[in-house]
Amino acid sequence: MTETVGKESFNSKGFRTAKLLGTSPSTFTLMQGTPAYEEARKGFWSQEQADCTPYCIRQPKNAQGVAEVLSVLEETGCPFAIKSGGHGRSQGESSISAGVLIDLKYLNNIQLSEDKRTCRVGPGCTWAEVYGQLNPAGLTVIGGRASTVGVGGFCISGGISFFSNRHGWALDNVLSFEVVLSGGIMLQASPSSHPDLYKALRGGGANFGIVTDLELAVYPYEGIWGGGVSWAWEHGDAIIDTFIEYGEDNVGNADAAAILGTVNYQGQWIWYAELEHLKPTPPEKRSVLGRFLKIPSLLDATGPTSQIERTDSIVSHYPTGCHNGYWTFCTQVDKRILKYFMETWREEVDPLLDIDGIDKAALADVNFVSQNIVDAMSRNGGNALGLAGKGPFLLFLMESLWMETAQSERDVYSGYGATAKDFLALVSDKYDPKSIFQHQRGAGWHLHGSILGPVDGQGANSTKA
Ligand SMILES: Cc1cc2nc3c(=O)[nH]c(=O)nc-3n(C[C@H](O)[C@H](O)[C@H](O)COP(=O)(O)OP(=O)(O)OC[C@H]3O[C@@H](n4cnc5c(N)ncnc54)[C@H](O)[C@@H]3O)c2cc1C
Repeated sequence: MTETVGKESFNSKGFRTAKLLGTSPSTFTLMQGTPAYEEARKGFWSQEQADCTPYCIRQPKNAQGVAEVLSVLEETGCPFAIKSGGHGRSQGESSISAGVLIDLKYLNNIQLSEDKRTCRVGPGCTWAEVYGQLNPAGLTVIGGRASTVGVGGFCISGGISFFSNRHGWALDNVLSFEVVLSGGIMLQASPSSHPDLYKALRGGGANFGIVTDLELAVYPYEGIWGGGVSWAWEHGDAIIDTFIEYGEDNVGNADAAAILGTVNYQGQWIWYAELEHLKPTPPEKRSVLGRFLKIPSLLDATGPTSQIERTDSIVSHYPTGCHNGYWTFCTQVDKRILKYFMETWREEVDPLLDIDGIDKAALADVNFVSQNIVDAMSRNGGNALGLAGKGPFLLFLMESLWMETAQSERDVYSGYGATAKDFLALVSDKYDPKSIFQHQRGAGWHLHGSILGPVDGQGANSTKA
């Protein structure tokens, strides 16, 4: 690991670089041109992010280091980006070219409580690391379905887990956050300490501060049975009916997880599902998962497995280092919509598959966000997503490893609804009064629209603009 004190100016904006690069016992500083910098710069899932060239990379060793780095950035006015696991897909989500990258990889502590009901986890951990510690003790947390995803971004943005029908999304299972605010202020946010910030952090993303530690609820883990299944196109009606029955059965689906999709496999459109039974044994034939297995399949790869094996297997379908496009939208639960969407996706995408450089798989999938999951959103004072008290819904995902990288003008938070978005703006005003996380954070979704933050501190995305 390189630790460097820089002397020269590394940008044309007049930031006081000696301060930015200054040595500190609580932070590593990686300079451009060094192997350590190159390794850290490329440590992202998507190529769009790995292509960024930060002025330098700061890697705090603890929360104190985060506070010091943030204070200096604030003083110098230099734009910055925050990275935990680096699985944000879009350009500029957690890396930056004209600014400093704060890489939280060394905030990777995992500490199970004595009563084994909670676990403190650093945002820089991957889910593989967390499951690796907890599963052998028969325990788990509500974490990712892909092993390499980071704890930090996952827990502040949503977090769909195999266990979500039973316990809700990851953000509803964070019991408290340690967070560093602008000015280097460190505090705990929980239902009893700064509850407004606690709520805003659960869905409001990186808009308020830097999360340096999370206290997660711990649950029993018995093992998993599951795998991928694929079917010929003509079984669409039966598959959709079975998927909707699975999502609507709030008793039966508490032991189950399913994601349904269509994919082009070697020129042939097929249906597929990733299924998990949250026990080491196969599901009963009449259960919500057993019914999927009755439909005649092309391939059935289900069997006894584990949380670690499943999350490794799923991530193997999403290779690191590709350019990617990614769109989501939600609808009410309606078979006609699901069928129309999948058929239209096939019709629209099919003619494009001959174009050079296009991902031939053309994956589109759907999660059933069950009533169990929505009900969990009212826990602990509710989260910031604006969904508490609502009914179940379908969450569609369209993915491609071909699409253009420029997706900078989407506004994530407007999708939460006006009330939820106004609440987030109020919390931002209170906990980030100088709008550092709107003006100066150059990467990640901002409250008023774009993913790329303004440079030069002009505050194009400011909540106060
Ligand atoms: C292959 C793959 C599989 C996925 N599987 C799932 C899945 O099963 N379920 C699901 O719900 N989602 C899934 N996702 C989406 C994923 O959860 C989000 O992209 C998540 O934000 C990634 O977290 P990260 O820490 O790895 O990302 P990062 O890119 O490091 O961070 C994402 C965003 O959060 C901000 N951020 C990160 N850490 C902090 C912090 N400590 N404090 C403040 N802000 C912070 C960053 O600035 C950035 O804006 C998947 C994504 C990929 C690429």
